[in-house]
Amino acid sequence: MYDPKKCDLCGKCLARCQYMDFDEKSGADAIKELASGKTPEWLNSCITCFACSETCPNSADPFDLIVTRMEQSGAYLDPALVAAMHGHFSPKGDYTPAPAGERAVSLCTIYSVLPPETFTGRLFEGLTPLRGRFFFCHILYLHMGNKSFFEKEMGPAIERIAATGAKEVVFVHDDCYTMIRMAQNAGVKIPFKPVHLLEHLRDWLKSNLISIKPINKTLAYQRPCASRLTAEKEALVDEIFELIGAKRAEREFDRENSLCCGQNTGDALAARKNMGAFQDKNIADAVKSGADGMAFLCPMCMGALGEKAKNAGLETWFISDLCKAAIGEI
Ligand code: SF4
Ligand code: SF4
Repeated sequence: MYDPKKCDLCGKCLARCQYMDFDEKSGADAIKELASGKTPEWLNSCITCFACSETCPNSADPFDLIVTRMEQSGAYLDPALVAAMHGHFSPKGDYTPAPAGERAVSLCTIYSVLPPETFTGRLFEGLTPLRGRFFFCHILYLHMGNKSFFEKEMGPAIERIAATGAKEVVFVHDDCYTMIRMAQNAGVKIPFKPVHLLEHLRDWLKSNLISIKPINKTLAYQRPCASRLTAEKEALVDEIFELIGAKRAEREFDRENSLCCGQNTGDALAARKNMGAFQDKNIADAVKSGADGMAFLCPMCMGALGEKAKNAGLETWFISDLCKAAIGEI
């Protein structure tokens, strides 16, 4: 949540924005305007990448202020898109939790984006899959300027996961893990141990070093926007790459400088915000880095950029498939 006591109105957050043309002076003025309760037109140019909150040196969470004002203005919300997303992702019917055992893996609705065999094999052995809308994290609605719906649904989604009785839950989708961390930051007690997919993969690989054969590939990593709110796990990507014998391509749009995949805003908003041009810049940068391919942590990013990457001659890899390749399962 935006904390005005931490914000010294330095403007660094917006000066760092890759999608709008602020400097520190105009950025400071813009944050001041938002903090005073105004809803300026530039809110509609935000692509909701969370980078401003990652940038803030005082952890004042400016994106929270931005999304609050987006919702107040009403101009950012696309009612047809919101209704379509509710139809697609909101839980339907009664929830009867199935016992998950000690360890579960949350596949939410994201499992359906990738081939079914993605979450099989030794990497996922012993994990009970939690699939479907009841486990959907709703972070999507932050990308749509609908913060209140996300906040309303966050608690029930966590309760449904907890009701499975799992002591430890591996989150495949970066968004879902981020929701858990946001809840923890807001003081919500999480009655299971949340584990990010990257942490699970790193630990599995470290326990099975003998199974690994280096894949010898250079890969451009596509960092999901949600990772900007959980940046402490960034080092895990480097560890995994090292363990499987991959090189993380040195490129302009990685780490704090990564670009949104363009999936965030839905097709209509993405077109309005010219996300196609940013996708092209992103792919061109990956090609220029000399990478053999792109590595994705988020299946949605892979869906948004995969075809353009392939057309540019790049391989496309979901992160756990890279690990599977290193242990001979692909
Ligand atoms: S939110 Fe952070 S970066 Fe932005 S103006 Fe306030 S202190 Fe500076
Ligand atoms: S969320 Fe991203 S696009 Fe929006 S103001 Fe912050 S940095 Fe810019």
